[in-house]
Amino acid sequence: MKPKTIPEETIGRLFLYLRALLCLAREGKETVSSQKLAEACHVKPTIIRKDFSYFGEFGTRGVGYDVNQLIQEIRHILNLDNLMKAALIGVGNIGMALLNYTGFEEEGFKITVAFDNNRDKIGKKINNVPIEDVAHLESMLQTQGIQLGIIAVPESAASEIAQRLAQGGVKAILSFAPCQLITSDNIQIACVDLATEMARLVYYL
Ligand code: NAD
Repeated sequence: MKPKTIPEETIGRLFLYLRALLCLAREGKETVSSQKLAEACHVKPTIIRKDFSYFGEFGTRGVGYDVNQLIQEIRHILNLDNLMKAALIGVGNIGMALLNYTGFEEEGFKITVAFDNNRDKIGKKINNVPIEDVAHLESMLQTQGIQLGIIAVPESAASEIAQRLAQGGVKAILSFAPCQLITSDNIQIACVDLATEMARLVYYL
């Protein structure tokens, strides 16, 4: 059971730790000290120890943390230990790239179905993921128990798709469309605004 008073910053850093730990696991590392984990995540070791103290003792003094065990623990805390099913809406440039990416399962979710309104795409499979007619969106989301929706349709269609995802029962939306999305309050929305991020970088050049 998660304690109720975990700071948002700690939750944010757990994702950072998880990413670094997955990297270490891929390199074949079995243990890691808080010092090394801190260096990999660009945070202070004291912060890491404080963050972990919210969830109990993970490490062994003098040995450090067991990498795989810590990955499991953090996944559990972040509710990532059960593979979450995701639906992709819009199989264009971005959607196609997402369907062809094979690393999402390691992060705790899997795109199990895609939707589009283009007759030439409906009925095909990309990387074993079927592309369905978006006309059946809400009913298929419900029957398949999809909790996460990924929007990769043009900006003009994004708001309507977000509302339909909410009606289909998804709990969280990740959108690549460069616009604000409004749905009910109990849906988490994250937008990946690539152009704004690039503009931000250019500003600091
Ligand atoms: P795209 O035009 O290549 O693909 C869009 C897909 O959505 C197409 O397959 C189209 O058939 C489908 N579609 C359109 N309306 C639909 C609807 N109502 N229901 C279901 N499917 C529908 O677009 P893209 O380049 O993949 O971009 C997707 C989103 O990401 C856009 O909002 C775009 O602004 C944003 N974006 C793209 C880039 C990029 O580099 N491609 C960069 C930044 C942001």
